[in-house]
Order: sequence, then C-alpha cells, then structure tokens
Amino acid sequence: MEHFDYCIIGAGVVGLAVAYKLSQTAKNASILLIEKHPHFGSETSSRNSEVIHAGIYYPANSLKAALCTQGKNQLYDFCQQYAVPHRALGKLIVAHSPQELPALEQLQQKAASNGVLLEFLDQKACYQKEPSVNAHAALLSATTGIIDSHSYMQTLLTLAQQNDVLYSPNTQFLQATETANRFVVSLGTGDGIYKLACNNIINCAGLHATTVASNIDSLAAVHIPQHYYCKGHYFGYQGQSPFSHLIYPLPNKNTSGLGIHATLDLAGQLRFGPDTQYIDDIDYTIGLAANSSEGILKQRFSQSIKRYFPSLQAEKLHYSYSGIRPKLSSENQAAKDFVIQDCNQHQVKGLINLFGIESPGLTASLAIADYVIERI
Ligand SMILES: Cc1cc2nc3c(=O)[nH]c(=O)nc-3n(C[C@H](O)[C@H](O)[C@H](O)COP(=O)(O)OP(=O)(O)OC[C@H]3O[C@@H](n4cnc5c(N)ncnc54)[C@H](O)[C@@H]3O)c2cc1C
Repeated sequence: MEHFDYCIIGAGVVGLAVAYKLSQTAKNASILLIEKHPHFGSETSSRNSEVIHAGIYYPANSLKAALCTQGKNQLYDFCQQYAVPHRALGKLIVAHSPQELPALEQLQQKAASNGVLLEFLDQKACYQKEPSVNAHAALLSATTGIIDSHSYMQTLLTLAQQNDVLYSPNTQFLQATETANRFVVSLGTGDGIYKLACNNIINCAGLHATTVASNIDSLAAVHIPQHYYCKGHYFGYQGQSPFSHLIYPLPNKNTSGLGIHATLDLAGQLRFGPDTQYIDDIDYTIGLAANSSEGILKQRFSQSIKRYFPSLQAEKLHYSYSGIRPKLSSENQAAKDFVIQDCNQHQVKGLINLFGIESPGLTASLAIADYVIERI
C-alpha cells in the first residue's frame, strides 16, 4: 500500500497554505494534497470578498485576531515576493450620525487591543476622501486591502509542487481507519476506491470538515462541533466606481457578517455584499430563505447601501454570486472563534481538524498554516 507522511484534505486556500508551508518545513516528508473537485479553490475560497482584513473586529486573544494580524503581514510580504496582484486600498468604517460615535470609538479601541491602529476622520475629512459617502465620521483602516485570491492559490500550489507535494484533484476523502499508529485512508477517484496509508491527516475540508471528521473511525463524536451554513450574496454595480476605498457600515451587534459593504476588485469593479442568511444545505443559487427572490433581495441591498451611498442607482445593481460561511454559531449566538484541534483535544495522534474557518480565513491562511504545523 502506498504510504505518505501527510495527507491534507481539501485544496482551498487553507489546505494549499498548509501544503506550501509544510513542504518548506518538513523537507524530506511525503505530502499528499487531495481535492474532490477538478480544480483547487472551487468552494468558499473563490466565493468571498477577496479582502485582506486588518484584524479589527475579533475579540482580543482570539485565534481570529491573532491569526488575522499575523496572516495579513505575511500575506502582504508573500504577494510582494511572488508578484500576486493585490492593493492596500484602505477602508472606511462609517458612522451616519452622532449617535453612532460611541460604537465607532469602541471599535477603534477593540482594533487597538488587536494591535491595529485606525485613524478617526471627522465629516470634512470623510468628504475629502470619499465625496459620495454619507458619513458623520469614519475610521480609516490603512492596512485593509484586496487580493487576487485565484492567483494567490495558484502560486501556493506551484510552490508546493516545486517542493514535491503531490496534488491530486478529483480525489475525495471517504473514510479513515486508525491501525498501528497510522491511518488507512479510502479515497474516491475516477478509477474507483483507492486505499493508502499515512501518519498524519490534516482536515482542511471547509464546509465539509465535520463530515470528514465523522468518517475518521477513532475520533469520538464529542469532538466534532455542531456547524451551520450562512450564505452571503453579492451584487455587482455597473459603471465606474464612485469609491476609491472599501466602504463598510458599522457592524450590527452580534452580527454574523460585517454588514453589506462596498468592495472593489483589482480591475476597479465595484460590488456590494455579502448579506447573511442561515440555510440548511449547501446551495449557491440566489434566495432560498423565505421572501428572498432577486427583486426582494435587491430591495434589501438598496436599503442598506443607501445609508452610506445615498445616490445609489438601484437599476445598476445586478446579482453576481454567493458564498457560504462555515459557522460554529447559530443565527442567535455570538460569533465563535476558529477551532483547530490536535491530539491534546481529541487524543487521536496525527490528526488535525480545522472547523469554522470563516472570515478572515483567506487573510489568515499563512498564519493558520504555521499554527497547524506547530501542532503536528
Ligand atoms: C461570503 C464570504 C466572504 C468572505 N470574505 C472574506 C474576505 O474578504 N477576507 C477573508 O480573509 N476571508 C473571507 N472569507 C473567508 C474565507 O473565504 C474562508 O475562510 C476561506 O476561503 C476558507 O478556506 P478553506 O480552505 O478552509 O475552505 P474551502 O475553500 O471551502 O476549501 C475546502 C476544500 O476542501 C474540499 N473538500 C471538502 N471535502 C472534501 C473531501 N471529502 N475530499 C477532498 N476534498 C474535500 C472542498 O472541495 C474545498 O475545495 C469569506 C467567506 C465567505 C463565505
């Protein structure tokens, strides 16, 4: 039976970053990266805002805060070194009225506790930066940026393959059995079921991480968290962007997302989103929740966007795509942190599970990879 030191499940941005970093640190190890789809990054990693987050919103001492700030710095360096298209545009978080000033101040303090400095802008300074935005005041986050996530993932894969990582698309993890300190893994391929042995499994299966975990026979069910799907839609905006920064409203309390914001891609195309809709099954089509046809969704988007962009022309909004957040908190719970478990938590030697890798997983990917490798 073929044997590998490491089997990484899932070639989203996190699995790719783990494969790349592991191939640098474990130089003589045999590393297999499997992906069930024909192409890497076909799920959440290609259905997001492509924003390099600064690390503003997450509770101090959380994994999200630490890995986002470390990951951001590494990501900017990586993009620079390997010519991955990106731009540090900066973002404005806007308050519409004096009543929102305390919330803005709290956010500034929270960011500072994560080591992220935000500049306070009064109404005049906001107008100078973004004349189309309706703002009483704003916070400027200079280290927020945008990235071409496909190019980033392609670069990670190329570098990993140069270091002898074996990448196998169209290969689905089915099941693993633990025997004599190693795993026997069954994979579904175009040619039928294939079995191999490995010492370590790193479960980076995103939305499917709990399903993968439940098919590892020695892992007790108590270590597999309850998970939820939370969908977010995006609308593109025709014509030239009126903004040169990313524009975010203040997040609602206990929010599942950051509020419908304005982001730009590297070609300068403006898009708005994502909203938040908890759903039962993975489905990327528009709507699904009661009363959310394209027309109704567009109306809701217009209402939210007009608070900070009053001259929005709703007819220029066109539905673009959706993504699904792998969440560990339900609709009414406070947001939960990333969960990255090793054998200290679940007692299965050689197994690392990553659960709930929602935003800022793209930004944090290189730091997540370091964190995983420290735990192997
Ligand atoms: C709407 C939205 C907006 C976001 N915006 C941002 C943002 O602006 N900035 C940011 O930093 N983060 C953002 N994120 C978060 C970011 O996109 C994710 O954290 C990141 O993409 C997660 O990557 P991943 O590799 O863990 O998961 P995925 O990209 O889902 O990859 C998992 C991979 O595992 C594969 N897989 C699953 N099961 C198996 C199996 N049994 N066998 C083989 N392969 C399998 C899947 O096919 C998939 O390719 C956003 C997320 C969403 C949903």
